[in-house]
Amino acid sequence: MKQIKLTIMVLMFFGSAVAQKKNNFEDWERKPGLVNPAENNRPPSDAITLFEKNNLDNWQYSNGSKSKWKVSGNEFWVTLNEPDIYTKQSFGSCQLHVEWKIPDDETHDNLNWGNSGIYFMGLYEVQIYDSYNNKHEIYYNGQAGSIYKQHSPLVNASKPAGEWQSFDIIFTAPVFNEDKSLKSPAFFTVFQNGIIIQNHVQLIGPTVHTDFTEYQFHESKLPLMIQSHGSKVSYRNIWIRELN
Ligand code: MG
Repeated sequence: MKQIKLTIMVLMFFGSAVAQKKNNFEDWERKPGLVNPAENNRPPSDAITLFEKNNLDNWQYSNGSKSKWKVSGNEFWVTLNEPDIYTKQSFGSCQLHVEWKIPDDETHDNLNWGNSGIYFMGLYEVQIYDSYNNKHEIYYNGQAGSIYKQHSPLVNASKPAGEWQSFDIIFTAPVFNEDKSLKSPAFFTVFQNGIIIQNHVQLIGPTVHTDFTEYQFHESKLPLMIQSHGSKVSYRNIWIRELN
């Protein structure tokens, strides 16, 4: 009897200790803001729409002049012999949704097979390429969903040319110290067609086409860029949420 009493007392003691500990993990201070989730392929309520339909008013060339990329209804596409386009607004860390399509009548040489890309801050590229079924050979850290020349995708989640695909990308911007040295690097997490292909990978510096890169001080927010690389890649439904 004495032993049972003691066991109950011990259980009560540890039970309350666990309850106390659990209670200490409850956060009643920081109430999350309200966001209406996306429905019917629409942006969430707090997103900034970068392209919906009919015009590229939120975009421009690097010199500030008006983009001449072709727009038709709810899509636009890389227009040959026209340069990259940049958002008028600048962004740092963010969540981006973008849908893209490789042209199925592609006729360029193999390094241009659907080559385009999304450059965060105009510097850090998530690659777009025709990588369905590994049809067109390229180094793995240059295929669709790669962090160009830095990280190959975890898997090849590409759809065939001619079909719409999506990227949902979380970008953590690099941070610089007052003396302009690097405080913390950039990171990417990327979902392609709903499948994770980059899991919080760290960048060694901006995207380059050579074999050496390192961080150079830049502003905390810069425009997003879509690459013109000789392939008529189409885009639609682009929205962004800033992460502060
Ligand atoms: Mg590219």
